[in-house]
Amino acid sequence: MTQKLLATTAGSLPKPQWLAEPEKLWPKWNLHEDALWEGQKKAAKTWIKRQEQAGLDIISDGEQFRIHFVHGFLQNILGINWDKKTPMGIRNNRYTVEVPTVVESVQRPGSIHAREAEFLRNNTKKKIKFTLPGPMTICDTIANDCYRTRSQMAYAFASILNEEAKELEKIGVDVIQFDEPAFNSFTKETLEWGIDALEKAVEGLECTTAVHICYGYGIRENINWKKSLGENWNQYQNIFPALNKSSLNQVSLEFAGSKVPPELMRLLPDKELMVGVITVVANKLETPEEVKKNILLSLKYVDYERLIPCSNCGMAPLPEKIVLDKIKALGKGTALASK
Ligand code: ZN
Repeated sequence: MTQKLLATTAGSLPKPQWLAEPEKLWPKWNLHEDALWEGQKKAAKTWIKRQEQAGLDIISDGEQFRIHFVHGFLQNILGINWDKKTPMGIRNNRYTVEVPTVVESVQRPGSIHAREAEFLRNNTKKKIKFTLPGPMTICDTIANDCYRTRSQMAYAFASILNEEAKELEKIGVDVIQFDEPAFNSFTKETLEWGIDALEKAVEGLECTTAVHICYGYGIRENINWKKSLGENWNQYQNIFPALNKSSLNQVSLEFAGSKVPPELMRLLPDKELMVGVITVVANKLETPEEVKKNILLSLKYVDYERLIPCSNCGMAPLPEKIVLDKIKALGKGTALASK
């Protein structure tokens, strides 16, 4: 028999309510300064243990140290004015938020996530994954009042992401995953410069590299958007062939409970696939049997050695209890399918 399948999550997990406002995409911290750092470590440690106990093999910090998957990275980047809020319809106008504004050339003053990655490395013996926002998704979550074009801004971010990723790799991070949900909203731009900017971000890395492309968190705006996409969600069809040619090692995609045709997985014959085998909606709790079914269905299109059972997306905005049950089902279902 081959090795057991290695399960993981897309990255983010809910923050406990003593740490931050629950079930929000942009929550407020409930602790400050040193107490915040201590609280974040405590919450991360709890999720590390829970992932291990659930039987997952590639462990994240649950993004307990960042307020939001994009703005957590941007917080200490120079060149951004956080008081200059610009209303922006993000992910192709799916929802409008007030975003900070790039007003000068962006620069990385030093480590952004190093001590968080060190904490994760020191608290598990399993493989670890660290997530960073991808250049195109950053540019879709911040306003541009500096660069001539959005792609120029993306390349500027790609270069500082690359510096950061190289530092994370030195700490012993096994997988660096770039989150690019924007790839599903802007096919033309993804092919013109999005994947190329991502290549800049992974340049020279020797650890495993991954890109996560989804249909978004399980929040109302996304659920409504998905209803408008019809019977076949074919967005991946346009970008997978280009991604298969890229230097990225893994692609994370949405599958469970979606209308993504599973045969699209065949467009990535040279990549490892993190297939979403659990949904990220609060009203659906998968059983291990259902997870197993999703894995077995995926195995019709992906070789066993290339399949990594995963969640469809991050689970930050979901209730903590539900996510705990979901990762247990993910672990159990993976064990069942591995037999
Ligand atoms: Zn996602």
